[in-house]
Amino acid sequence: MSHDKTGCQTIGCTVVSCKHNSQGMYCDLSRIQVEPMTNCEGCHSGNPADESLCGSYRAK
Ligand code: SF4
Repeated sequence: MSHDKTGCQTIGCTVVSCKHNSQGMYCDLSRIQVEPMTNCEGCHSGNPADESLCGSYRAK
């Protein structure tokens, strides 16, 4: 597995309710953790909204 983009990616994000969001377009963090949904109905449906979410989210 290649890690050649580590530290080089830009995180685009439009979740304006998160305190790490900048200008409604970017994440200010240098790294985020993306996590699978757990304990939910409908997991493993293949629908993106059912499968992953930002574990670094913090409400404003
Ligand atoms: S922590 Fe996650 S939800 Fe918050 S701005 Fe960054 S990418 Fe978006």
